[in-house]
Amino acid sequence: MAEQFDVVVIGAGPAGYHAAIRAAQLGLKTACIDAALGKDGKPALGGTCLRVGCIPSKALLDSSHQYHNLVHSFEQHGISVKDAKIDVPKMIARKDGIVKQFTGGIAMLFKANKVTPYYGFATLHPNRVVKVKQHDGAEVELAAGNVIIAAGSESIELPFAKFDGEYIVDNVGALDFTEVPKRLAVIGAGVIGLELGSVWRRLGAEVTILEALPEFLPAADAEVSRLAAREFKKQGLDIQLGAKVSKAEVTGKGKKKEVTITYADKDGEKTLVVDRLLVAVGRRAATRGLLAEGTGVQLNERGQIVVDEHCHTGVDGVWAIGDCVRGPMLAHKGFEEGIAVAELIAGLPGHVNLETIPYVIYTSPEIAWVGKTEQQLKAEGVPYKAGSFPFAAVGRAVAMAEPVGFVKVLAHAETDRVLGLHLIGPNVSELVHEGVLTMEFHGSADDLARICHAHPSLSEAIHDAAMAVDKRSIHKAN
Ligand code: FAD
Ligand code: NAD
Repeated sequence: MAEQFDVVVIGAGPAGYHAAIRAAQLGLKTACIDAALGKDGKPALGGTCLRVGCIPSKALLDSSHQYHNLVHSFEQHGISVKDAKIDVPKMIARKDGIVKQFTGGIAMLFKANKVTPYYGFATLHPNRVVKVKQHDGAEVELAAGNVIIAAGSESIELPFAKFDGEYIVDNVGALDFTEVPKRLAVIGAGVIGLELGSVWRRLGAEVTILEALPEFLPAADAEVSRLAAREFKKQGLDIQLGAKVSKAEVTGKGKKKEVTITYADKDGEKTLVVDRLLVAVGRRAATRGLLAEGTGVQLNERGQIVVDEHCHTGVDGVWAIGDCVRGPMLAHKGFEEGIAVAELIAGLPGHVNLETIPYVIYTSPEIAWVGKTEQQLKAEGVPYKAGSFPFAAVGRAVAMAEPVGFVKVLAHAETDRVLGLHLIGPNVSELVHEGVLTMEFHGSADDLARICHAHPSLSEAIHDAAMAVDKRSIHKAN
């Protein structure tokens, strides 16, 4: 006999756990199923983000940033150290501790909110029946008024560079190296390639990033991408654009094993030999084995579950959210979709504005944006004005010894409405939310310019950039 729930959520990643907790808060009897196991072999809730994504990568970015500053930046503050060392197993253990704390935290939140967790692999059957193959082999059957699919995503594997978990790895392996690889290659100069490439470069690895496209970071504003490319080069990240990899094989024996990569660029075929290879060429929706015959749930040509603007699949009572549907593959986009769908099920209004999702790349300098880039506005023929301001003229940034970068505000030429905010520099992962707020409230560059910003603070760069939109910046020539 199937156990009956109002809501069954498949997947306890950012999208799924938000949906489950919000549904339970709204008085709906809710279950949430997740198949994942942690490093200790025990069930671990929280999805890619908490186990092998956002949180562990930020832990290593922070550790490596501290080490890099100790070795390269502290001297200008009059602080000197001798023989700075990095203990990689200790750094990884700290990261693992943070992961355990947060994955365990989701289990506690489920308990506190009366969400029933199931640990195992779920398959959706017609009429909102969900069968769960639990880790002990037992199968349970759940029947639901509504099913929310939040199955997430998995790394794309290249056919000529199969993951072996040790020499050729995805994010999971690259978050767990036991020592700094002397030579690391990365395929893909996207977010994972840049963030994890930075971690190991800061700790001393020679890092080569092979990117197929001829352009660097095309999704970001072109001026931001240009400055980022310059800064990464200075840091020793060797980014090769227009590089088409055709083969990667593990060669050698025992401790002498290495990875030999064959690729071609405008100068012809080349070979690169490294100690480890990280493949970071994007992720795909994780739908294998998820849908039994006859559910009616459709997949698009990219393998994503087809949904409308409210995350409804078109099948009565079946919804899908997060990385397994269209839109950016970002944890916070999944958070909002989870909440919106739970509220829609409970009869409340629920909506996610994909136009105001912030993007952040946690490199040094950090990169962040919301809204349209200049190149998008030009392509769409939207008349706009731009105002920018450098961190080199912001007292706080200079006092912090972090003067690299700038802020750019893009506003409609006629209405002054803010259409985009683009930032590269210190702590811009936090600053970008001024742009999100302004855009959500349909604010103008003038609104931003007239809002009092604390002095000295990094946010003054946004204030002056907004003033520069109308050529009235105080701290630079207009
Ligand atoms: P997931 O987090 O993938 O969770 C899906 C869950 O569902 C998984 O636990 C999976 O085991 C489970 N599942 C799937 N199918 C089934 C099934 N049939 N039965 C039972 N369980 C199932 N995003 C950011 O916003 N900021 C960042 O800084 C950031 N850093 C990242 C760093 C890395 C290295 C990676 C890989 C990703 C990063 N991301 C980041 C992206 C972010 O992790 C994802 O966007 C987010 O995890 C998606 O959430 P989700 O709930 O849709 O899916
Ligand atoms: P991505 O889409 O950001 O970058 C993949 C890169 O690989 C692209 O530049 C692409 O042109 C390149 N590429 C594709 N095929 C290639 C090939 N055969 N050879 C060489 N280059 C190739 O994907 P990702 O870095 O794998 O990250 C996956 C997802 O995780 C992203 O959608 C991202 O949103 C999310 N993520 C977010 C954050 C963050 O928010 N800070 C951090 C990490 C990951």
